[in-house]
Amino acid sequence: GFALAKRVKALTPSTTLAITAKAKALKEEGHDVIGLGAGEPDFNTPQHIIDAAVTSMNEGHTKYTPSAGLPKLLAAIVEKFKEDQGIDYTAKEIIVTNGAKHALYTLFQVILDEGDEVIIPTPYWVSYPEQVKLAGGQPVYIDGLEENEFKITPAQLSEAITEKTKAVIINSPSNPTGMLYSEKELFELGQICLQKNVLIVSDEIYEKLVYGENKHVSIAQLSPELKEQTIIINGVSKSHSMTGWRIGYAAGNREVIAAMTNLASHSTSNPTTTAQFGAIAAYNGSQEPVTEMKKAFEERLNIIFEQLLQIPGFTCVKPQGAFYLYPNASKAAQACGYDSVDGFVEGLLEEAKVAVVPGSGFGTPDNIRLSYATSLNQLEEAIKRIKTFVENKM
Ligand code: PLP
Repeated sequence: GFALAKRVKALTPSTTLAITAKAKALKEEGHDVIGLGAGEPDFNTPQHIIDAAVTSMNEGHTKYTPSAGLPKLLAAIVEKFKEDQGIDYTAKEIIVTNGAKHALYTLFQVILDEGDEVIIPTPYWVSYPEQVKLAGGQPVYIDGLEENEFKITPAQLSEAITEKTKAVIINSPSNPTGMLYSEKELFELGQICLQKNVLIVSDEIYEKLVYGENKHVSIAQLSPELKEQTIIINGVSKSHSMTGWRIGYAAGNREVIAAMTNLASHSTSNPTTTAQFGAIAAYNGSQEPVTEMKKAFEERLNIIFEQLLQIPGFTCVKPQGAFYLYPNASKAAQACGYDSVDGFVEGLLEEAKVAVVPGSGFGTPDNIRLSYATSLNQLEEAIKRIKTFVENKM
């Protein structure tokens, strides 16, 4: 056969995909499976965004754009940062990419040399370690402990930094936990990064989905030094329900952005032109749909969180943002006779016909991730099924 490159052989397949494939197979056999694995909002893209994209094509905007993105989109993003975070970026400090995922991928490619370390707090979004490894880097994990709301402390960060540390990833609100770092926590972590010259990669893709009294703060808005030390990653996928459009961006140090733009010019050329026109409308048009979607998520969260806590053996930190619940299911798994939560998740799918994602894929094998990006009816039915499943096995 064909000999694949070493870097590809070292890639770990996505755990979310394995469970999704199994759920799909069961569905095709005619089983009534409820999927709580989704990583995308269940709403349509707002109509004015779709209309703007269609109009742009009819007006003939169907050609290449500059590699860093359309000037009009860059201007809209500059404006967004001013309004939401009070940060002044110039267009030269921003690159538009094919989704936030590709912003991260490109970033690691331009900042990492062989053996450079990137600190990744657990639980982490599944693609961080793989992307770091693909760039020749070495992931270094810090445990975000459940008793600290899955967040890392300044002491933990200090301890993990070595001469090889290039960057640390902060994802707030977090996928999979939904937790947010406060301004004070971010400031303290930031001071350590400034002292030790560690780049901060701040993944803020769930910025717009923050509930109750909680407020999203970007570490880059806390001081001019922190702005210079941080690359913000964001995009319209989650905020405007545009996951399929593939528009994200990175903002920060001009030289890093220039290097990313250079790499993009040889790999993607530019993010899809039509999708960029959609993103311009997303930022320049009404933000009412964003508020509406957030309200729907928050309502669901408040209803099903209480129901989730009724499942014997489940404990859960209440999420402050994003659209995931991340309960600890280790006691329930044990009580049901499983030797791991992974086994519990499989049983849940096969017998109760509910698909959730095992925490092992996020680096914390005692937990499971439930997405509430699905209708309240389906959510309530799923929780009922999990509860019955556990009660019958105990
Ligand atoms: N970062 C986090 C934490 C995510 O959960 C996701 C999507 O699941 C992304 C980045 C990627 O978003 P995009 O669809 O814009 O590539």
